[in-house]
Amino acid sequence: MDFELTEEQTMLRQMTHKFLEREFLPVIKEKDRQSEFPFEVIKKMGALGLAGGVVPLKYGGGGIDWVTHAIISEELGRAAFSLCLIVSIVQIGLVEMSILNWGNEEQKQKYLPRLCKGEIIGCLATVEPNVGSNGAAIETKAVQDKNYWVLNGNKVWITNGYVADIAVVTARAKDGLVAFIVERGTPGFLINKIEGVMGNHISGIASLTFDNCRIPQENLLGKVGDGFKLAMSSIQQARFGIAAGSVGTAQSCLDYCVKYAKERYQFSKPIGSFQLIQEMIANMTVETEAARFLTYRAGYLRDKGLPYARETSMAKYYATEVALRAATNAIRLHGAYGYCDDFPVERSLRDIMGPIIFGGTNEIQKLIIGRDVLGISAFA
Ligand SMILES: Cc1cc2nc3c(=O)[nH]c(=O)nc-3n(C[C@H](O)[C@H](O)[C@H](O)COP(=O)(O)OP(=O)(O)OC[C@H]3O[C@@H](n4cnc5c(N)ncnc54)[C@H](O)[C@@H]3O)c2cc1C
Repeated sequence: MDFELTEEQTMLRQMTHKFLEREFLPVIKEKDRQSEFPFEVIKKMGALGLAGGVVPLKYGGGGIDWVTHAIISEELGRAAFSLCLIVSIVQIGLVEMSILNWGNEEQKQKYLPRLCKGEIIGCLATVEPNVGSNGAAIETKAVQDKNYWVLNGNKVWITNGYVADIAVVTARAKDGLVAFIVERGTPGFLINKIEGVMGNHISGIASLTFDNCRIPQENLLGKVGDGFKLAMSSIQQARFGIAAGSVGTAQSCLDYCVKYAKERYQFSKPIGSFQLIQEMIANMTVETEAARFLTYRAGYLRDKGLPYARETSMAKYYATEVALRAATNAIRLHGAYGYCDDFPVERSLRDIMGPIIFGGTNEIQKLIIGRDVLGISAFA
């Protein structure tokens, strides 16, 4: 067992950290206030190879392993969970991995290099107004008409949806669930920004409507009947990114708390000298480290070609809960200053509620873990 990062991993962590410090941290507060998608940052990340991590080099990706992907995603989540959501979780985890694992050679050549460079943005749409945790119940309809498929239905809560150039969309056909790559601008493909979301303001969350939208046959992703497996496998990729980004967010809360606990004086002492404050710092430190190791282990199993589903759900469930506790306690520790956006801990709290819900809610993660341990399904 080796707990050391390789030289390449350390170098990539530092490079990502410095890049975000220079290009993203100065703009995130205003972008979050204005709910503005960070196009320029994503393009620059693409140029640095940060938007195509695990995708093989021959398709324009970084060809890195999953542990290294976790390290980079952690740095994104440390800068802002919403940036990790846009890039690691959705662009790479949901979209690039869907096309890599289910696309034909032509689709891979057509879309992957531009996605990996951040030249185009992607989203994946499975959830619908009546279909959340029960992803198999999809109501959006796909009917074949010669060399086209006609799509009708609605998708909601789609991250990157408002700005996406392409959407991977699941639907129900006569012979099972199907998935398509739908390009922006296709007649009958309508996009509406969802206003009033609690957090992840920069991530362009939208609802998508398909109104007799005609999709060419060559945009079918995988085979007829593959749609459910595609959606479930993509969500598992996303879960890994969620775990890593949450570790980063927990670490960021801890970093801000340590600094503030030394600088803020009350009763003529730094607040860090009070035992109850030290308890918060100790808990955050232990839990963040534990979440990090669960996440790296899931990545390690993946890199070794071993089963990783249970470990990925464990990492997603634990790391998001740890980050939620860290953000809540970070606001307590900062007092009233933590309650406004002078410090990013209030943004961390708003953002981190998202991944408690998406990627499969944490209740669903517990059912997945329970089923795997017990051999009894609570879903049936
Ligand atoms: C910020 C954000 C971004 C998102 N991005 C995307 C995206 O890019 N693409 C996309 O397709 N979707 C996206 N989603 C949607 C997300 O995947 C769903 O919200 C999620 O799957 C849960 O579905 P639901 O909200 O309909 O909740 P429901 O499924 O209605 O669940 C409501 C409650 O019931 C619980 N519950 C449900 N079933 C069970 C059960 N069997 N046992 C125990 N408890 C259960 C849930 O845990 C939850 O507490 C996003 C959501 C958010 C909040």
